[in-house]
Amino acid sequence: MSTKDYLEKDYYKVLGVSKTATKDEIKQAYRKLARAHHPDANAADPKAEDRFKEISEAYNVLSDEKRRKEYDDARSLFGGSYRPNGGTGPGGFDLGDLFGGAGGTGGGGGGGGGGERLSDLFGGLFGGRGRGATQSRRGADVETETRLTFDEAAGGVTRSFQLTSEAACPTCKGTGARAGTAPRMCPKCSGTGHENKNLGGFSLSEPCSECKGRGLVVDDPCPTCSGSGRGKSTRTISARIPAGVSDGQRIRLKGKGAPGENGGPAGDLYVVVHVQPHPVFGKTGDNLTITVPVSFPEAVLGADVRVPTLGGLPVTVKIPPGTPSGRTFRVRGKGSTRRDGTTGDMLVTVEVAVPQELSGEAREALEKFRAATADQDPRRGLEARAKGM
Ligand SMILES: [Zn+2]
Ligand SMILES: [Zn+2]
Repeated sequence: MSTKDYLEKDYYKVLGVSKTATKDEIKQAYRKLARAHHPDANAADPKAEDRFKEISEAYNVLSDEKRRKEYDDARSLFGGSYRPNGGTGPGGFDLGDLFGGAGGTGGGGGGGGGGERLSDLFGGLFGGRGRGATQSRRGADVETETRLTFDEAAGGVTRSFQLTSEAACPTCKGTGARAGTAPRMCPKCSGTGHENKNLGGFSLSEPCSECKGRGLVVDDPCPTCSGSGRGKSTRTISARIPAGVSDGQRIRLKGKGAPGENGGPAGDLYVVVHVQPHPVFGKTGDNLTITVPVSFPEAVLGADVRVPTLGGLPVTVKIPPGTPSGRTFRVRGKGSTRRDGTTGDMLVTVEVAVPQELSGEAREALEKFRAATADQDPRRGLEARAKGM
């Protein structure tokens, strides 16, 4: 009896009993089947002998408490950890390796009716290869995105995310087989999942056409996953987006990705943030930006200008006399919050507003102003500089 036998053969199905069947139920089922299929009673049927052997084998294992446990353990171990070869999930042991390694030790019958110590068998196999099913494995990193208002981005916010990840089908635990049945090794590729095509001088390894690279075939497919063994798991997690994130930034939330396997750490969640523009404020690095209109006299004569802040009281910014349009003033500590809790600055850029309509009096004053400053040509020397002189 080999590991392969344990994985391939469904002894419960052979005896027609449930996995939770009691010792007596197993005994009764065996007796009934053994009588019906005994070769002496079915001399005309050449298959009866094989069937009888199968029934006896199943009964030998399931009637022995210790061996039944080993059998159950082997199958649940296998069922819970097997990943299709082509799967995108992390790890999972390769069936080809498993069978390749087990073949050497799984053949002959040991003493006492052919039972091998399954735990030893698995121990050696996994220990030697270092990628056992019980080895802990870090969860996968997951990426998602979220939209934030400007204020949320500036102040930080807690968001919940629905994360869907590739996982083993929950119904069949990834085996692809209907409950109570088990997949068997693919006969075409002997469980390797590959077949070699000979193309004259060289051979090409391709995914097995029979099992699509899984190394297993399923006679009675799981209705949930149609036999693929793959499913999706959806989780809702809540995570804090730190204050001060910028549009397009990809932030890493440690340990919020896919859960680890067998006690391994969870992967990380990466969130790409999209920040809605604010009607008034902008952002460069840790600094908030704002453009503030000032009148021409304010720019020329100087003024104290009230400037709003994000989520706080307005501040007064002193515009000195002779401030050109486009000059930027720095207001310390009124920017967005940094990750270390300190705040950036607010950069106030003044823009001289040009009146679109003027009263007669204002126009008159402006005409006077023009006449009074006729000797100040703001374009003096421009043409000469344009010629490179
Ligand atoms: Zn399934
Ligand atoms: Zn195959």
